Amino acid sequence: MTLSAHVEPAISFRDLTLGYDRHPAVHHIDVEVVRGELLAIVGPNGAGKSTLLKGIMGELKPLGGSLKLDGLNKRDIAYLPQQIEIDRSFPISVFDCVAMGLWRKIGAWRGLDERGKRDVARALATVGLVDLASRPVGALSGGQFQRVLFARLLLQDASLILLDEPFRAVDTKTIADLIALILHWHGEGRTVLAALHDLDQVRAHFPTTLLIAREVVAWGETHKVLTPANLAKARQLVEAFDEHAEICARDEGEGRQERRPA
Ligand code: ADP
Repeated sequence: MTLSAHVEPAISFRDLTLGYDRHPAVHHIDVEVVRGELLAIVGPNGAGKSTLLKGIMGELKPLGGSLKLDGLNKRDIAYLPQQIEIDRSFPISVFDCVAMGLWRKIGAWRGLDERGKRDVARALATVGLVDLASRPVGALSGGQFQRVLFARLLLQDASLILLDEPFRAVDTKTIADLIALILHWHGEGRTVLAALHDLDQVRAHFPTTLLIAREVVAWGETHKVLTPANLAKARQLVEAFDEHAEICARDEGEGRQERRPA
């Protein structure tokens, strides 16, 4: 699929607050993600990066404000959670795990036709896993399993791709291969958002960055966002955040206006 890049927003966060059990985890987020953007989401541990991705997936409903996906429905979104959230004890082969990427197209209970099998084989070849097709996923290294998950994303053919720490516990060669795949998706005009902790990777490959620390610290071109001052501010904000705070409205005087990119 080749998508043409548009300038209208794919995702709009308007004064968005997300959280758990009525306790905000990220609050008052005003950001727009443009269609075709390759955006890194960075911030200290506990900053709310995963929470934001779960909000886009619809796993969390806004506690305040709104989150709008323009012209996108669930079928257009592919989501890669963190590896630790995925149960690998399920006895399934690499081939069958990758084939799950076609479920939305063909349904879970219909067998794969020849074309589907060819698509799976091509995806396995793209991520360099042809030789491991019949191996159980439980017997793979962290890097090999991440390649399986990327092959599955490939088959989902989604216009919005959300990646939560895709390079954690992954070897250097695999990281390089998966970054190449992400850049390829970007070149095709897909919108890609990735929560990442390695700032060198972000600086090298991601044109735009959203730095969060329970709230937006900075947002825009990566080199303007990842400054020592912004990173220090992010650390302070996360350390100072009150875990037990209840939802609160933002002061009317305090920047109701939309934040512009850095
Ligand atoms: P990050 O991905 O930046 O490390 P998270 O979005 O995982 O941050 O977490 C932000 C905060 O949200 C955490 O510090 C925690 O307080 C809270 N949180 C995350 N997941 C849950 C959950 N399932 N239940 C309750 N609170 C959670």
